[in-house]
Amino acid sequence: MLLGKYSFGTGDRFAQQGEAQLRALMKASQEIGTDIVPVWNKSNREHQIVGSTPAAVRREAEDAVTALGYGGQWFTDADHINMSNVDKFIDDSDFFTIDVADFIGKPEADDAVEAFIERSLKAAAELKLPVDASEANLRRVAANYLYAVREAGRIYRHIEERKGHGRFVAEVSMDEAAASQSPADFIFILRELALEGVEVQTIAPRFHGSFHKGVDYVGDVGVFAIQFEEYMQAIDLAVERFGLPPSLKLSIHSGSDKFSLYPVIGSISKRYGRGFHLKTAGTTWLEEVIGLAMTEEAEAVRLVKLIYSQAVERCDELCLPYSTVIDIKPEGLPTPSEVNSRSGRQIAAALRHIPGHPEYNPDMRQLVHVAYKIAAENMDAYLAALHRNALAVGLEVEANIYDRHLRRLFDLP
Ligand SMILES: [Zn+2]
Repeated sequence: MLLGKYSFGTGDRFAQQGEAQLRALMKASQEIGTDIVPVWNKSNREHQIVGSTPAAVRREAEDAVTALGYGGQWFTDADHINMSNVDKFIDDSDFFTIDVADFIGKPEADDAVEAFIERSLKAAAELKLPVDASEANLRRVAANYLYAVREAGRIYRHIEERKGHGRFVAEVSMDEAAASQSPADFIFILRELALEGVEVQTIAPRFHGSFHKGVDYVGDVGVFAIQFEEYMQAIDLAVERFGLPPSLKLSIHSGSDKFSLYPVIGSISKRYGRGFHLKTAGTTWLEEVIGLAMTEEAEAVRLVKLIYSQAVERCDELCLPYSTVIDIKPEGLPTPSEVNSRSGRQIAAALRHIPGHPEYNPDMRQLVHVAYKIAAENMDAYLAALHRNALAVGLEVEANIYDRHLRRLFDLP
């Protein structure tokens, strides 16, 4: 089961927008003449907050695929799983993002470290690996990553025993690590994954800069471009010389809306003839809120205002699970009474991510992004509003993915 060249991870908190998401991807696929494979992703954290199940994600995807007569590849991703929670994803997922960030820096046994150094010194000399393969550097790589790679192997084999060989796509993610991986780190991580028998097809490194949810990249785009290219070269090498699957590619856990990076990702990938997996966060939910506000339907706008005022009140609680991936300045948040006096369209303009737009408010956008728990607590009213306004909301979701993401990634007209 080899993953297609381009794939796009899309999250959907309430499993209502599968068709809109797929429509955007099918439209862009037609433009570029290559399938952009949809991957519906949802993390354990999200399932817990919403009270949803992997089976519901699968059903949403199946319904969308059937409704639109889509005949290409598609997957449902058990996002950021580890050994403690993987089991509940086995039946309804065929893409597994094995998160080993928490295991980086854990000490591995001395004899395992020595064996790693011995085989790596030998491989570096034989394969002429273009990185610092001094013993001191290998010791550093081992101290940081050897245990994490073993853990990836343990989880991979656990999944393989249950799903069967070749019946799923494996990603290894380290994007939530504290520090970036050097090219040497990355090459030896890939080599050790190959030796562990992990047929990894996408790998998510920790890039330079901040990838806060739902807002643009904060960091040096030039440094990102250099890193992206170094990782890309490491992947070419790993496929050629370590025997990893030919479909192996970088996975970018973008947190959505990394508008300044998309052209860089697109053009470097094109130059290397190797695709990428771009994972977005559950910003589809934000587009639902924007779509509801845009309708100016009294009940829908009232619900949006209720969500915002409760979000301000419960800001600390809602932000806590996302503290490392959001950056909200409280002084940038309008008060609930201020927002209550606005029209739906004014609220939509504040939430919609158009950099430079005078009404755009990134603090408000990020707060609403993490406030989906409030919609989950008012699920009947929220779903009823979505159903009453299904067409308008769906168009908002589709346009967001196509116009703001895919257009920039694939340089579409
Ligand atoms: Zn991630």
